[in-house]
Amino acid sequence: MNSTPQHIVDKFGRVHDYLRISLTERCNLRCFYCMPEEGIELRDKSAFMSAEELIDIAKTFVSLGVKKIRLTGGEPLIKKNAAFILRELGKLPVEVTLTTNAVNVDRFIDVMKEAGIKSINVSLDSLKEERFNAISRRNYFQKITENIDLLLENGFHVKLNVVVIRGTNDDEIVDFIEWTKKTPIHVRFIEFMPFDGNKWNWEKKVSFKEILQQVTAHYGENGFYQLKDKPNRTSRCFKLANSKGTFGIISSVTNPFCDTCNRIRLTADGKIKNCLFSNDEIDLLSLHRKKLPLLPAIIDAIQSKDKKRAGLGEFNDKMAEKLQNRSMITIGG
Ligand code: SAM
Ligand code: SF4
Repeated sequence: MNSTPQHIVDKFGRVHDYLRISLTERCNLRCFYCMPEEGIELRDKSAFMSAEELIDIAKTFVSLGVKKIRLTGGEPLIKKNAAFILRELGKLPVEVTLTTNAVNVDRFIDVMKEAGIKSINVSLDSLKEERFNAISRRNYFQKITENIDLLLENGFHVKLNVVVIRGTNDDEIVDFIEWTKKTPIHVRFIEFMPFDGNKWNWEKKVSFKEILQQVTAHYGENGFYQLKDKPNRTSRCFKLANSKGTFGIISSVTNPFCDTCNRIRLTADGKIKNCLFSNDEIDLLSLHRKKLPLLPAIIDAIQSKDKKRAGLGEFNDKMAEKLQNRSMITIGG
């Protein structure tokens, strides 16, 4: 039962009831916008939460009032005991979901059903095989698209994450939207964000405004309409007339959704991060191993959360250069 919900309310009144847990920093893909070219430093297994530690820490959050847990990474479905973690989280009174590159989805379909998962976010940045394989520096396009079909056949709600990068895949926006005509899929175009080692610059990101301009130029102003915002929304959603699916745009760079943010992040090494862009991390795993209470640290993390984007101000090239953050793959997207 949630007897102390005030612990997850920050000083701006935002209720932090959504926990994103990174299962691993490792991945079977090497998407250039996420994983630095030189790779990441590989650390000993003991630096990371074991499955049991992860479940214990997750339970503490649930007892504080967390209602939704998303597993992410790195690639969550390459963690050795991902099936055990899914099953155990599935027993808690929370909505469990995950973000995956879908390479291993066929091996987890039954476990995901058992865990009560209904909706899954899948990343796919191009509908062109060669291009996708170049972006992800691996050759899994066929496998991923087959697994997306498998998820749809099995009744999962699929949200497709597309990071839009100028000169890389910004000519495919309409192609992705065309997919929503006959398929009940939700495509989400994400503005390219700066992280350590991903060679971000202002010119490479394609803004919400530009994406919408492309959509309007193709379908006309009356060819699509905006859907009502959901609480804690991260994207603004749209639909073509008579389409089965929908599409959305996540404007994390040009118009972040900090006002309604309800997220807390737990990194694979057990650190709580109160914002994707925050450098401050509180080491819950060490406290847990010393059998010290986690509650004061969790309250501290939530209460020290900035109003907007970890106090970084607006994004620009200068700021991106100075950004002393982890790479996306080590934060957990
Ligand atoms: N491996 C899983 C996947 O790719 O879906 C989960 C982890 S991944 C880090 C989570 C999400 O972060 C993906 O949808 C990915 O596209 C997004 N992402 C990674 N780097 C990004 C960046 N620089 N800008 C915007 N989104 C990014
Ligand atoms: Fe791996 Fe996902 Fe990052 Fe791509 S976006 S490298 S699939 S963690």
